[in-house]
Amino acid sequence: MNKKRKQPKKRSLFISFKIKPMVIVALLMLFSFGLSYSIVKVSTLAQPKSQYVIVLDAGHGGLDGGSIGCTTQVKESDLNLNVVKKLQPYLEKFGFQVVLTRKGNDNFSDNKVKDMEQRESIINSSTPNLVVSIHMNSFPTSDQKGAQVYYQEGAEESQKLATSIQKQFQEHLDTNREANHGDYYILKCSKVPTVLIECGYLSNPEDEANLIQEEYQEKLAYQIFCGIIKYLNIRKN
Ligand SMILES: [Zn+2]
Repeated sequence: MNKKRKQPKKRSLFISFKIKPMVIVALLMLFSFGLSYSIVKVSTLAQPKSQYVIVLDAGHGGLDGGSIGCTTQVKESDLNLNVVKKLQPYLEKFGFQVVLTRKGNDNFSDNKVKDMEQRESIINSSTPNLVVSIHMNSFPTSDQKGAQVYYQEGAEESQKLATSIQKQFQEHLDTNREANHGDYYILKCSKVPTVLIECGYLSNPEDEANLIQEEYQEKLAYQIFCGIIKYLNIRKN
């Protein structure tokens, strides 16, 4: 990001109009702030959005169902795919290219390491600008609830993306959880901003009741989309 501030060269022009030095300083500060602000605003999305590639990873699949719903025994892998399939059209309608690591209820291998390596290979061959992995959480007790976004510790852009999505959750999904760093394979697959979203707890009956609803999945997908757009600092026309 180019944050260099360009100073106007023709200071003598201002002086020739006999403007007081304090006014000149104020004008210069205002001008340089405005210039640097506009540079930051436009340079965040440095390439046309049609060339933006976003990888969506629906966690688990096939024999690996992931977490299981405490009341309905719903499989996490199915819910992850539902959210991904709802998020995809929001991104595509906006003009992004979307790549899915899995399109159906399967996985690449029953061997977890091989499965993750295959996802990593799809991510890297897609040369994405962003990676978003969708999961549902679980905890031994039923008291934990709420959606939470994870990023790789020390990965600044991933943290910013995670914070942007988490803010949407705080404002629209009734959670006060904060974005957090986590140790997940998918977060280390690529150097581009990558987040893993735990959409809620399948071990909490209230969260589970929400997560199995199409309407709530749609709401989740929309808030993730908004978080991505706000991170990229662009606005829909
Ligand atoms: Zn999971």
